[in-house]
Amino acid sequence: RRLRNGRWINISEYRTQDGGTVCIHTDITERRRAQQDLLRRTALVQMLREIALETNEAADIEAAIQSCLDKVCFHSGFVLGHAYLPDSDGDDAKELLSTDLWTMRDPERYRPFRDISSAMRFGHGVGLPGQVWASGKPVWIEDVQNDANFPRRPVAERVGIHAACAFPVLEQDRVVAVLEFFSDQPQPCDTALLDAVTSLATQLGRVTERKRSLMAMNKLRQAVEQSPVMVMITDLRGVIEYINPEFSAITCYRPEEVIGHTPNLLKSGHTDTEAYGKMWARISSGHDWRGEFRNLKKNGESYWAATSISPIRDQDGTITHYLGIAEDISERKEAEQQIEHLAHFDSLTELPNRALFHAQSRQILAGAKRHTNPVALLMLDLDDFKDVNDSLGHAVGDELLKLVATRLHSTMRQGDIVARLGGDEFTMILPDVGGPDAVDTAVRRLIEIISQPYVLEEIDLYVSASIGIAMYPDDGQDVDELLKHADLAMYRAKGRGRGTYNFFMSSMDREVQQRKTIETAMRAALDNEEFYLVYQPQIDAINHRVIGAEALLRWNHPEQGNMSPAEFIPVAERSGLIVPIGEWVLEQACMQAKRWLDRGDDPMTVAVNLSPIQFKHHDLLGMVSDVLKRTGLPPSGLNLEITESVVMQETETNLGLLHALREMGVHIVLDDFGTGYSSLSYLTTLPVDKIKIDRSFVDGITSDLVQQSIVKTIVELGNALGKRVNVEGVETREQLDILSRNRIDEIQGFYFSKPLSVADLDRLMDGEVQPVLRASPPR
Ligand code: C2E
Ligand code: CA
Ligand code: CA
Repeated sequence: RRLRNGRWINISEYRTQDGGTVCIHTDITERRRAQQDLLRRTALVQMLREIALETNEAADIEAAIQSCLDKVCFHSGFVLGHAYLPDSDGDDAKELLSTDLWTMRDPERYRPFRDISSAMRFGHGVGLPGQVWASGKPVWIEDVQNDANFPRRPVAERVGIHAACAFPVLEQDRVVAVLEFFSDQPQPCDTALLDAVTSLATQLGRVTERKRSLMAMNKLRQAVEQSPVMVMITDLRGVIEYINPEFSAITCYRPEEVIGHTPNLLKSGHTDTEAYGKMWARISSGHDWRGEFRNLKKNGESYWAATSISPIRDQDGTITHYLGIAEDISERKEAEQQIEHLAHFDSLTELPNRALFHAQSRQILAGAKRHTNPVALLMLDLDDFKDVNDSLGHAVGDELLKLVATRLHSTMRQGDIVARLGGDEFTMILPDVGGPDAVDTAVRRLIEIISQPYVLEEIDLYVSASIGIAMYPDDGQDVDELLKHADLAMYRAKGRGRGTYNFFMSSMDREVQQRKTIETAMRAALDNEEFYLVYQPQIDAINHRVIGAEALLRWNHPEQGNMSPAEFIPVAERSGLIVPIGEWVLEQACMQAKRWLDRGDDPMTVAVNLSPIQFKHHDLLGMVSDVLKRTGLPPSGLNLEITESVVMQETETNLGLLHALREMGVHIVLDDFGTGYSSLSYLTTLPVDKIKIDRSFVDGITSDLVQQSIVKTIVELGNALGKRVNVEGVETREQLDILSRNRIDEIQGFYFSKPLSVADLDRLMDGEVQPVLRASPPR
C-alpha cells in the first residue's frame, strides 16, 4: 500500500491459532524503488537496443534521428520530440536551426509549440538546445513553466508542456545535433533516462558519423563515376582495379576487359620505354607524375591522353594504390599540330617555310661542324616570275609555284631540305654533297628540271631559275650568312642572264661593301653639289642640225673623281635615292632647255632619262608638272626617256602615268629599244612618241647583214606606227651611211658629238666646233 507520505509498505497478515491476527507492515519503499528502477532500466536498455538497430538501418542521418525521436518518446512517455542541427557542419557553426524532425503524440494540440520552435534559432548557450550545444551534456528541466531560461515558455504554458529533457548527438566531441523532449506534466529528473540518453548521445553520434562518411563516399563515388575525365585505379604492380565509365567511353574497353590487366593494354608504341621508366620511378618513389601519352583504343584508333598519376596512401602513409586521371586531349593536340604545321610550312606549296628551314638547317650545320662535311646552301629564284603573274594571273602563278615546289621536292635526296622563303624564292640545303664539282652537277640538274615545260590550264609554260650557291663553312659560318651570300650569288647569276647559277665568292662581299660606300657618298652628293649634267646633241638625220640634247648625269666624286652613271645609277635605284636625284636632273635640264628657248635659236628639245623606280616611288605626274611650272618650259620641249621595263612592270599604273604625261604635252621616248622582250607588235599599243634604237644594233651593222635587216625592220615598223625614230651610238661615218638608207629621223652618237658641257654645246651650235670625223671611236 502506498502511504500518503509516498512510501510503500508491504502488509502481511497472519491468523494465529488462537484466532488473533498478526499484521506485519514492512516498509518496502526502497525495495520497490529498486525494483521499479530495474524494470525501468531494463525498458531503457530495450529502447537503446531498438534505437541502435533502427538507426543502423536508417537510410541517412535524418532518418536515424527521426527513429531515435520516435523511440525515446515511445519508451519514456514524452509527448514531444524534436531535433536541432547546427547551421554548418564545421566548427564555424553559429546557430542551431530547427528541423522538420518531430515526434508528437497530439499534433493538433502542440502545433503552436512546433511553430514557435521552428521559427527560433538558438545561439551557443541560449535556451534549452543552446545550453546542450554549448555544454555537450544532457539537460533536464523539471517544469519549463518555472524556468527563466526557456524563451518558449508562454506557448508551453498555453499547450500544457512541463518537463523537458535535451541531449546532444556527439561525433567524437563535436555536437552535431541536439534532441529535445517534452512531457505534459512536471517530472523530476529521471536519472535512468538521463543515463540512457547520455549513452544515446555517443551511440547515435557514431551512427551519424558512419552515415556521414558513407554519404561522402557515395558522393565521391558518384563524382568519380560521372566525372568527365578518365579515372583508373591500379594496385602497386599496376594491375587495374577500377576504371570509371568515361574511361570505357573513350577507350571502348568495358571494365571487365581491363580490370586485372595492366595499362600496357593501351600502349600505342609511340611513347618510348624510357619515358615509361621515368614515370614508374617517380610514382613508386611517392611522387606525382604528369605527362601526355598517345594511347590506343580498343578499335585501334589512337588518342592523346593528358595523364596524371598519383600514389594513394592509407592512414599510415603507406602507398597502396595508384590513381590515374586522364583527359582526352586529341582535339587539342590536333589543333596544336595544325597550328604547328601552319607555323612551319608554307600553305601554298606545303614546303617548310623560312622558320622551319632555319631550325632544320641549323641542325644540319651543327652536324656538319662535328663531321667537318661541306654543306651547300642554294638560293633559287624563278626568272621573270612577275611576268607570269602579271600576264596570266595569280592563280596560274600559284599553280606554277606548286609545280616548281613538287619538282624541287622530287630531286631531294635523303637529308636534303627544300623550303620556300616567300614569293618565287626557294632555298635548298644539301648536306654531304662532297666538293663543289658535285654541287655543280646537282645544280645543273636542278636548272634543267626547272626549265622543263609546265603544262598548265591548256598552256605550256617555260620558266627558268637562277641559282646562287654558298658553301659551308667557306662562305659563311651560320645559316643567315650563308643565305645572304647565296642570295648575292643568285643576283649575280641573274645579272649574267637567265637560267644560270653562280657560286658565291667572297669578292662579292667587297662588291656589296663598295656599293654601301657609294650609297653613303651619294646621299651627301646632292647637298654638296657634286652632280652635274652634260648634254649629248641629237642631230636631225636629214640636215644634220642640232634639234635637241639628251641630259646625262655626271658625278664628280670627291675621292674617285668622275664616276660613270652605269656605276652609280643602279646604286641610286636600289637605295631609292634616284627619286630626289631624278627630280634634280629634271629641274636642271628643264631650266637649261628654257634658256635655249628664250635665246630664240632653232627649237631645241631636252631629253631626260627616267628610272623605273621613279614610276614606283613617286608622284611622278605631280613632280613633272611642278618642274615644268617652276622652270617655265612648255611641255612640248621635254622628252622623257623610259625603258621597256617601265611598260612591262606595273603595267596598268605605268601605262596610265604615260598617258597622263603625254596628255600634258610631254613626249615619251622608248629608250634602248630592241634589247627588251617586248614584241614589235607590242609597240602599236604603247603611248610612245619616239623610239631610240639601241646602240648594240649599230655596233655590228657594217659587217653583219642580219643586223642590218633587223634595224631596217625596226625602223620600218616605227615609221609605220608614226613614231619618230632615233638611232643612238653612231660612232662612224660608215655606220651613218648604212643607217641613212632607212627613214631615220634623228641620230645621236660620238660621230657627231660626245655628251658636252653647256658651254661646249653652245660653241658647237654656234658652229665653232665641227662634227668630229673619225674612223674609229674614242674609248
Ligand atoms: P642611255 O640613256 O642609253 O644613254 C646613252 C649612253 O650612251 C650615255 O652614256 C652616252 O654617253 C652613251 N653614248 C652616246 N653616244 C655613244 C656612242 O657613240 N658610243 C658609245 N659607246 N656610247 C655612246 P652614259 O652617259 O654613261 O649613261 C649611261 C646610262 O646611264 C644611260 O644610258 C642612262 O640609262 C643612265 N643615265 C644617265 N643619266 C641619267 C639620268 O639622269 N637619269 C637616269 N635615270 N639615268 C641616267
Ligand atoms: Ca637615254
Ligand atoms: Ca639608250
